[in-house]
Amino acid sequence: KELTDINELTDEFLRLAYHGLRAKDKTFNADLVTNFSESLPKIPVIPQDIGRVLLNLFNNAFYATQEKSKQSQFTISSYKPVIKVTTWQKDNAIMIAIKDNGNGIPNAIKDKILQPFFTTKPTGAGTGLGLSLSYDIVVKAHGGTIEIIGNEGEGAEFTISLPV
Ligand code: ADP
Ligand code: MG
Repeated sequence: KELTDINELTDEFLRLAYHGLRAKDKTFNADLVTNFSESLPKIPVIPQDIGRVLLNLFNNAFYATQEKSKQSQFTISSYKPVIKVTTWQKDNAIMIAIKDNGNGIPNAIKDKILQPFFTTKPTGAGTGLGLSLSYDIVVKAHGGTIEIIGNEGEGAEFTISLPV
């Protein structure tokens, strides 16, 4: 573990995910709204592992909004993908919240999404390993938590806490 600036790491992987997706789908467009606390202490993490977690959460969020965009092409709507990323300190933890306005997570699958190999994506689009790996990295290796809010139809929000 090394002392890491979580805002820098989060920003780096948000951009990486967005540019990676746009390289494949030039029509994809999202509003990235960041609200980073300016007074976060550096915390001891394995940066490449937390980076993988963030990359997966961003890719999941972009995928969910991309799907909703495709659906709303056929309806009269002014849907625009929005990914909101917020960092703050809460007691002895650094919090990172990633909120999207995609299709959300149906209640029926909410308990399953952390399981390895669970995916709702077509073959080739997802392995179903991202969230189970994220759980291992955040909870088991860093002593943090992952909280999931999945309002069906309205979007999903994943909040990670990492101890200071
Ligand atoms: P994968 O991305 O390969 O499917 P993950 O473990 O990252 O695997 O995610 C598992 C499943 O959780 C996804 O297939 C999807 O059904 C659901 N999911 C994850 N993030 C989101 C999100 N932001 N919005 C809606 N569903 C999500
Ligand atoms: Mg994933």
